[in-house]
Formats: sequence, structure tokens, C-alpha cells
Amino acid sequence: MIETLQAIVLRPTPFHDGGLVVSFLTEHGERKVGLAKGAKKPSAKWVSAFEPLSLVKVGFFGRELAELRRITRCELQHSPLTLGALDSSLVMGCLADLFDRVAKEGVEDPRLFRLLSACSRALKEQPQRALNILAYAEHWLLHCMGLLPHPKACGRCGNGEAPLVLLSADLGWLCAACTPVDPAEALPPGIREHLKNLRTCPAEAAPEIESRAAKACTELIRARLLTEMGGLRSYEVMHRMVL
Ligand SMILES: [Zn+2]
Repeated sequence: MIETLQAIVLRPTPFHDGGLVVSFLTEHGERKVGLAKGAKKPSAKWVSAFEPLSLVKVGFFGRELAELRRITRCELQHSPLTLGALDSSLVMGCLADLFDRVAKEGVEDPRLFRLLSACSRALKEQPQRALNILAYAEHWLLHCMGLLPHPKACGRCGNGEAPLVLLSADLGWLCAACTPVDPAEALPPGIREHLKNLRTCPAEAAPEIESRAAKACTELIRARLLTEMGGLRSYEVMHRMVL
């Protein structure tokens, strides 16, 4: 039985005899894995389609969930790759790792596919804004995982105006009106506004992350995400290269 799907390539891993085991995020937002036999041979016609974040049409052969299914074909439809754009390549590695961990086999979450497609298109159009796009993706990913409290009202007193000064594990975002915080530890002013930008912008308008508030917010969300993931190699590489 052959199943053909639109999907985004996540991680290709070398397998014996020059094969590759490739993980995908399908159009339904489910993680699927397949074996591409002989994919590393120069003659293999589909080899270029296995770059992380490529949008492809992929055919799987075999019984679902029963075994490692064979990849029968893989046609490249869109690649976010821009030659010479280092930040963008590093960010693509981070996004592939993140979605490879978050997406699950046998569980469909179409939001994941929409988010990754949007970020991938934005990276192609604006490779120089790759780090903003990564911060945007991290924010929505944490939201999809149910781990990002809504910033509209303080989690303790319900205040919707006072600046947010802290993200607490059990109450969510806390405001200056009800939470005394050492000024050195309080989040900088503008957190609420930055979170609102993240929630309302499309990926191609991902907000800048230069301001103090945006920087603090990005660090907080990234740390939360990486704690959940238990660390990712692509992030270690990126930290060495650009951050
Ligand atoms: Zn409050």
C-alpha cells in the first residue's frame, strides 16, 4: 500500500548500505519516518529533496505503524535554502530539531505544519531575519505544547495593564501591581507588548528581537523550550556561531 503526502523534511539520518532514515512533518501535522534505500548514491534522483525543511511530496510504502516504511519517491516542491546565508541555515537546523521532537507519530496537529510552512517561506524571503523568525517559531511552538500562558491578564490578580515582571511556573505571567520583584530580576518593560506582537504578526513580519523586552522574552521562551526538550545539538552549534 502506497500513501502519498505533502510533508516537510525534518531529519535525515544515515542508515546502513547508503540508505537514509528520514523523518517528516506531514501536511496533517504528524511525524512520519521512512527509509530511503540507496539515497546516498550520487545517482539517487531524490537526494536533494532530503534537506531539512524542504517541502516535498513523499510516497510511503508499507503498513502504517507496523514497520519502518519504505520511501518510494520524494519530489522537492520548495526549499527555504539560501546559499551563503549562515544564520538562516543554522536556524533551519534548529527548527528541524524542534519540530522533530514536538511532532508525534500517530498524533495529528495541523497547527505544527502551518507554523513550520509559514516560517520556512519567511526564511526564504528574508534569510537575514532568520533569528527573528526562530524566536517567532519558538513562541508558537511553546504555545502549541500548552506551556505558554496567555499574557492578556496577570495570572494572580487579573490586571491587564500593569507591566509583566515575572513568568511563574504555576501562575503564568505576573504583573508589577501584585508581585514585588527585585528590580534586577524583574523583566524589562514592554514584555506584554512584545508578546502581543508575536501573537498577532504573521511569520514574515516576525518582530525584531533587539529591544531589552524582546531579548528577555526570547531568552525566557527559548530556555523553557530547551528545558522541555532536554537540549538540542543544533542550538549548541548556533550558540557557538552567532549568539
Ligand atoms: Zn498581578
